[in-house]
Amino acid sequence: MRHDASGRDAPISIIGAGIAGLWQALLFARAGHAVTLYERDDAAMSHATSHWAGGMLAPWCEREAADDVVARLGIRSLALWRETLPDLAFKGSLVVAHARDRSDFERFARMTEGHVRLDAAAIAGLEPALEGRFREALHFPGEGHVEPRAVMPALRRLIAEAGGRILFGAARDPDDLAGLVIDCRGLAGRDRAPALRGVKGETVLVETSEIAFTQPIRLLHPRWPLYVVPRSGNRFLVGATTIESEGEGVSLRSAMELMTAAYALHPAFAEARIVELGSALRPAFPDNHPRIAVAGRLISVNGLYRHGFLIAPALAELTLSHVHQGSQGDLIDTEVMSWS
Ligand SMILES: Cc1cc2nc3c(=O)[nH]c(=O)nc-3n(C[C@H](O)[C@H](O)[C@H](O)COP(=O)(O)OP(=O)(O)OC[C@H]3O[C@@H](n4cnc5c(N)ncnc54)[C@H](O)[C@@H]3O)c2cc1C
Repeated sequence: MRHDASGRDAPISIIGAGIAGLWQALLFARAGHAVTLYERDDAAMSHATSHWAGGMLAPWCEREAADDVVARLGIRSLALWRETLPDLAFKGSLVVAHARDRSDFERFARMTEGHVRLDAAAIAGLEPALEGRFREALHFPGEGHVEPRAVMPALRRLIAEAGGRILFGAARDPDDLAGLVIDCRGLAGRDRAPALRGVKGETVLVETSEIAFTQPIRLLHPRWPLYVVPRSGNRFLVGATTIESEGEGVSLRSAMELMTAAYALHPAFAEARIVELGSALRPAFPDNHPRIAVAGRLISVNGLYRHGFLIAPALAELTLSHVHQGSQGDLIDTEVMSWS
């Protein structure tokens, strides 16, 4: 097959159908490439980190702990999510703290931007379930959240509509494949990127019809900071721990702390039914920054850490522009930092 000089019609193999690989596959397929996405798991994807994520798209909240580069990638990605799945209703996110944790609250407000302060009445107006529970909150109206287990199949449908092929039960090594290969294997990619580590995150999925939230709520707490992300079917994801360990499963202590914190957010969680305990490893480089590494015909996109849903679309856009325009150097640090 002949390809044009810019490589616009070159076939592309992508390994790994987590959130990183899905966005790469979608943008390359829409740009006219013959895309094949290889995934070793089955369509349930329960071994992918992405399956277990909160799905928050919170570039401004994440400024508390993450660098500017993550915020910039996140803000660009929010626009791509909106454009690609226009039916998603993004409602923002809300940050609250109990009165005794006021210094944490003020610190969070200073470390972040893109928020407005709400008093008790405004909190009740926005989230009636929280009426009378907090005197003050930070509302981040530009943020959003997605349900990983709903948007991943939705992205797969869009990839298929754009002509891409997705093969499940198809473990591949980059050396098995000819042509341009994009390696999105998450933590499994550390055979080629030994600096990658897994950072454990644990969650509890609960169900109750006693509470309704429209947006993720973060509760600041000196020992158990947590978020509660609303899911369809009266479900709520309570998360997440961040533990420098690659151990499996959810510890009794983590489960207790997450549930205690949920109860501190709203006592009605006491009666909620536990649907599932979840744990997964976030793929992270030592500086917790993502990387797009180019070595000849092999491009690896990895280290999405706790921001995979937040930044995968913009990472795919950068990879695509590298393939079309041949941008050089560290794709993220040089290009993203020049975005205004
Ligand atoms: C508890 C928790 C909560 C989180 N919450 C959020 C959040 O709210 N917002 C956010 O933005 N991020 C969040 N994250 C982070 C996010 O989940 C990760 O950054 C993201 O899932 C990483 O995606 P990935 O595609 O790189 O890896 P994965 O999702 O692990 O995908 C890699 C895929 O590659 C496949 N694979 C591996 N080897 C092969 C092979 N040889 N051949 C074929 N396929 C292969 C794997 O089966 C897997 O499906 C959270 C993470 C955790 C653990």
